[in-house]
Amino acid sequence: MIEIKHHGAVTGVTGSCHELTLTSVTGVTGSDSEGSDPTNTKATKPRGILIDCGLFQGEDAGRGATSTDLSIDFPIDHIRALVVTHVHIDHVGRIPYLLAAGFEGPIICSEPSAIMLPEILEDALKIGFTRDRALIERVLGLIRSRLVPVPYGQWHSVFGNDDDQGNGSLSVRLQQAGHILGSAYVECEAESDGQRERIVFSGDLGAPHSPLLPDPQPPDRADRVVIESTYGDKDHETREDRRYRLKAVLEHALEDGGTVLVPAFSIGRTQELLYEIESLIHEFGMGSDPEGSDPFSDLEIVVDSPLAATFTRIYRDLKPFWDAEATELVRQGRHPLSFEQLTVINSHEDHLNAVDYLARSHRPCIVLAGSGMCAGGRVVNYLKAMLGDARNDVLFVGYQAKGTPGRDILTHGPRGGWVELDGERYDIRARIHQVGGYSAHAGQSDLVRFVTGIERPPSEIRIVHGDNDAKESLQRQFHSAGLTGIMIPGLS
Ligand SMILES: [Zn+2]
Repeated sequence: MIEIKHHGAVTGVTGSCHELTLTSVTGVTGSDSEGSDPTNTKATKPRGILIDCGLFQGEDAGRGATSTDLSIDFPIDHIRALVVTHVHIDHVGRIPYLLAAGFEGPIICSEPSAIMLPEILEDALKIGFTRDRALIERVLGLIRSRLVPVPYGQWHSVFGNDDDQGNGSLSVRLQQAGHILGSAYVECEAESDGQRERIVFSGDLGAPHSPLLPDPQPPDRADRVVIESTYGDKDHETREDRRYRLKAVLEHALEDGGTVLVPAFSIGRTQELLYEIESLIHEFGMGSDPEGSDPFSDLEIVVDSPLAATFTRIYRDLKPFWDAEATELVRQGRHPLSFEQLTVINSHEDHLNAVDYLARSHRPCIVLAGSGMCAGGRVVNYLKAMLGDARNDVLFVGYQAKGTPGRDILTHGPRGGWVELDGERYDIRARIHQVGGYSAHAGQSDLVRFVTGIERPPSEIRIVHGDNDAKESLQRQFHSAGLTGIMIPGLS
C-alpha cells in the first residue's frame, strides 16, 4: 500500500509537511499452512519519508507560536528520511523539533540547499528556540551530520527490498523547481507488493522567466501529483511589466528623495530584486543618457539584514546554478549581486543609525529589510519611522499571509488607513505598491502547465499549500484542462 498524508496546515500556505508511506503486506506462511488463511497474513511495519517539515506563520499559527504549532504531533518511528524541497522556513522550520522528537534519518536535499539549510535554521533557532549558543551549535552540528546532498536529476535510493522490513522500495530524484536557489520538486519512485507508482511533490514552484534561476520543467512521468497553490487563483504580470513598474516606483523615490522600503524575504526575492535593480541601473544610469542627469546613478541600495546578506553571498558563490541569462551577464563583466551602489548593514547599531538617517535625509534610497510579511525583524523599525511620510513608498514583492501586518498595510494603506505595530497604531501616508511577479511562485497558468506538461495525465492531483479560494480556483482550471481525480485535502 502506498499512502500520502498531509501534516501541514489544512489551509494557508505555511507549515508544509507531507508523508509518503509504504506498507507492505507480506504473507507469512508457516511450514504447515495451506491456502491463503488470512491469519497467516500480517502487515509489516510501514516505512516512509517526510517531504518538508515547515513552520506555521501568520494566521496559520493560530494564537501565536504555541508549542502545539511546533510539536510533531504524528508518528515518526517509521520515517526513514526527510526530503527537503527548499529552505524557506515554512518548509524547514520544524526540523529541530523533528530531531527533538527522535527522528534519526538522513535529511536529503539539493547541493545548494545543503549549504543554506544550516544558515536558515541557525537564524530560526536564535529567534524561536533558544539563545544558548552551545545548544544552537549542538543542534546545527546534528543537522549538518544528517545532510545528504543529492545532485539534481539523479536517483537516490532511500530504502530497498532487501531490508528485513518487507517488500518495497523507494527512491527519490530532485529536479530544479526555479523557486529559490536549491529549490527542487521531488519525484518518488515507490514499489510496494508489486504495486509501482511515481509520485511527484511540487514543493514551491517558481515562475518561468524569473531572474537568476532556470525555469522548472514538468516531470516526465507522474501517477499522482501533490501540488502547491499559493498563486493558484492568479497569473503574475510579465517580467517586462513588473520591471517597468519597479522602475516607476524607483523614479518616484528619485524625484522627491524618499525611501523605497521593500519588506523582503531573505532568500530568493531579495536576490531577484537586486538582480533587477542592477539591470535598471545598468540600462538607465551610468551615462546611459548623455544629455540627462543620470538619476539612477544617485540611487543607493541598502540590504539591512545579516541573513539576506549571507544568502546573497551564497547566491553569488553558487553561479553554476544560475540560468543562462545571468551567466551571460557575468561573462560580460557585470556583477548582478554585488554592484557599486549596494550597501550591506550587519550590526544592530548600524541598523538603528540607518533608520534614523533615512527618516531625516532627502537622499533617494531603496532599503530591503526582513521580515517579508512585516511580522517582526528590522523592517518594523523602518515602517514605524517611515509610514507617516508621503515621500516614502512601501513595495511588497511577496505573498502576505492573512493576519500579518504586511497584509494589513497592503489592505488598508492605499485607503489612508493605519496598521498596528508592536501594539501601537501607525497612520499610513506612504504610497503602497505591490509587484506580484517577484514572489518566486508560479502563477495559475504555470501550475496548470506543470501538470498538463506530463505526458500521461496523473490519475490523482492533490492541491495543497494555499488559501482555499486559490485552491478551488486552481481546481477549476485543472478541470477545464481536462484533468480528473483532483482533490483538496482537508476541504469538504
Ligand atoms: Zn518557498
